[in-house]
Amino acid sequence: MKFFKLRHLTVVCPECQTIFATYEVARLPAIDLTTPIESDLHRILPDPELRSSLLAMCPNCIYTWWLSSFKEHFYLPQVVPDSPPTEPAKKFAHAVASGRKHNVHTLDRAVLALNGYWCAMEEGVDGSKFLSLAKNELAAALADPSWAGNRSRYNYVMGEILRLSGEYDGAVKCYEKVDSSAGLPTELVAKMKEFALYGNKSTVRLPPHIVGIVFNCAQPVNPA
Ligand SMILES: [Zn+2]
Repeated sequence: MKFFKLRHLTVVCPECQTIFATYEVARLPAIDLTTPIESDLHRILPDPELRSSLLAMCPNCIYTWWLSSFKEHFYLPQVVPDSPPTEPAKKFAHAVASGRKHNVHTLDRAVLALNGYWCAMEEGVDGSKFLSLAKNELAAALADPSWAGNRSRYNYVMGEILRLSGEYDGAVKCYEKVDSSAGLPTELVAKMKEFALYGNKSTVRLPPHIVGIVFNCAQPVNPA
């Protein structure tokens, strides 16, 4: 197995200034042709704690957001309160709630909901609530013309969310909106559209040559 590593650290809640301990992913092997990537463009992580460690949750006010937005504190993590014990995927539900409270954009909430879905899969629990949350948030984001970003790629992701939800007609319409600005091989988009047309809602692992094009990577330097 590839080497993943968590680090215990102390951070400060930006909302209530509580100092607490949490974990971060200290080592994540780079994506190469052998990395397991699914057709909705996410990397399968071997442990749900890895994905949930991308978030920090304050034990005092329960504010939950990407760990990268919390400031690190010099106190040793062993002498400060821990982050509350929470099932990995549930942390993403708390983050979506914090995002709503702070009025963050629906696109950011969609990305959190999608991560909650992937985390639930990695945890082996039902992720359907996250999938429908991601669908609603991403639909709202795509209907908002005010943001600039790779809309074409998000149309593909929306196609995948709909296909995985069994909403095949909507999925096909989304795949048809994907153009070359998405940076995705036409072979991939055509294949997933075909899956939708045949009513196939399975998750699919991308073949290495597609991973290479989408993530611009090559053969592993140190094969595991
Ligand atoms: Zn707090």
